[in-house]
Amino acid sequence: MAGIVQGKVALVTGAAGGIGRAAAEIFAREGAKVVVSDLQEDNGQETVALIKKAGGEATFIRCDVSRAGDVESLVAKTVEQYGRLDCAYNNAGVEGEWTRLHECSEDNFDFNYRVNMKGVFLCIKYQVTQFLAQNSPGAIVSTASIAGLVGSKNAGAYVAAKHGVVGLTKTAALEYARKNIRVNAVCPGVIRTPMLERMFEANPKMEDAMLGFEPIGRFGVPPEIGEAAVWLCSDQASFVTGHSMVVDGGATAC
Ligand code: NAD
Repeated sequence: MAGIVQGKVALVTGAAGGIGRAAAEIFAREGAKVVVSDLQEDNGQETVALIKKAGGEATFIRCDVSRAGDVESLVAKTVEQYGRLDCAYNNAGVEGEWTRLHECSEDNFDFNYRVNMKGVFLCIKYQVTQFLAQNSPGAIVSTASIAGLVGSKNAGAYVAAKHGVVGLTKTAALEYARKNIRVNAVCPGVIRTPMLERMFEANPKMEDAMLGFEPIGRFGVPPEIGEAAVWLCSDQASFVTGHSMVVDGGATAC
């Protein structure tokens, strides 16, 4: 049976682990040829190997999403490899340091901004340029967060950057809707990934405290976000654009 992104070329950033790896595997399962991109080459190649082992098609291209030259070249190399680009999942992100605003360093604020927000801007910019050059429909999804919709104590720099992702998503959706380019975001709640493990390691009390706020009684797992991102990229979501889809086990319903 054909998958929901059968024959499409999909690009996933931050795909060396966590949510990005799960999404890359789901894109491949659903029939896409996948460009796995990340800063980390070894773990990125591992994602490629997992996809190939399961019978899919994938290739690794290294890219730092905060650098315009890297992102432009990522899109160009994707087209060199697979002939076109149909879907992009802009997922690379960092947690930075969690502090109150008056203790947040300028470096921490800049780091969050560069990777989490400017990285998404650069990806959208060069992906849209490619869709327009191909004169074809395209679908872009970026990973925001529930921290892109509500405030969160001790996470001002991250919250600001993720709110920026939601704003970029709405604007891009409006600018390119008539070109058949759909632009959406996913807003994960708390998901068990290497990022979350790092945060719990740095602050052991955090895990129980956060679990107490989960209506479903557990944290999410990466495929629960990947499934949403791939669906938003698929033609099944053909009337969905400018949307920031919450996938959080009910956390923001309270
Ligand atoms: P992760 O740390 O497991 O994965 C993030 C990936 O991004 C890593 O492989 C890392 O190497 C890559 N990356 C970091 N900086 C990069 C850069 N400059 N260029 C290219 N790649 C880079 O984290 P995750 O939890 O899987 O996070 C994925 C996305 O989901 C992030 O945008 C994160 O902010 C977001 N998110 C995560 C959660 C959560 O609870 N885990 C919740 C909401 C949103």
